[in-house]
Amino acid sequence: MSDLLQVRGLNVVFSGFRAVTDLDFTVDAGELRFLIGPNGAGKTTLIDVITGLTRPASGSVRFAGAELCGRREHQIVRLGIGRTFQTSVVFEQLTVLENLDLAATFRRPLGTLLRRRRGIADLVASALDTTGLAELANRPAGVLSHGQRQWLEIGMLLAQSPSLLLLDEPVAGMSRDERARTGELLQQVARDHTVIVVEHDMDFLRRFASTVTVLHEGRLLCEGTVAQVQADPRVQEVYLGR
Ligand code: ADP
Repeated sequence: MSDLLQVRGLNVVFSGFRAVTDLDFTVDAGELRFLIGPNGAGKTTLIDVITGLTRPASGSVRFAGAELCGRREHQIVRLGIGRTFQTSVVFEQLTVLENLDLAATFRRPLGTLLRRRRGIADLVASALDTTGLAELANRPAGVLSHGQRQWLEIGMLLAQSPSLLLLDEPVAGMSRDERARTGELLQQVARDHTVIVVEHDMDFLRRFASTVTVLHEGRLLCEGTVAQVQADPRVQEVYLGR
């Protein structure tokens, strides 16, 4: 596997406060990578830098060979990076299908209208299938359960055919069954995408994570399998509170 994302020597400073310090972070194509760390560790800041929302003081972020620092959010989306936010982006009055169609229609490269429509229909059908929402396709998004709504948001990202998906706490507030379904969905998505997930739920990580990156106070604390990370005394001290 080859590096898809390479963060090197990243520093992010907010009004004199160092939110990220000398961070190196690499993700291979096809990985399902989990990012953990206590509040304030710099997880969201890292995601914000990758997606062009925050400008670093120094460092580089390379994605599929292209430097992302200095590019604007919409340019980064076009390069194939999609993210979910903790706040919902679903239109409640529109159906599940319409939400997916909107997501797929926007942010597509320009082509002939016909080619675009056909490509969009395929993307929407595939996103419906992957997220298991096909039976709810014609229901307004407003009636979805919390879990179904999260899956719709992941589907909306998939409909934009990114190669890298960044997901911020996708199982927060979900029931046990919904968490299990989401873990399976993430593993399925990672078969043909690269996925970075910010997640705190250790039970979920034990079940679904292969590689975990731990941040603490803006620095890389350690990286490895869930078992390796959990056995690391530094992680127990700062994250697990043991
Ligand atoms: P995490 O997502 O791991 O909880 P964040 O990346 O949100 O951590 O925050 C890292 C640190 O940077 C925190 O101490 C936070 O208060 C600070 N921070 C984040 N965004 C800003 C901002 N826009 N202005 C000032 N400080 C910020």
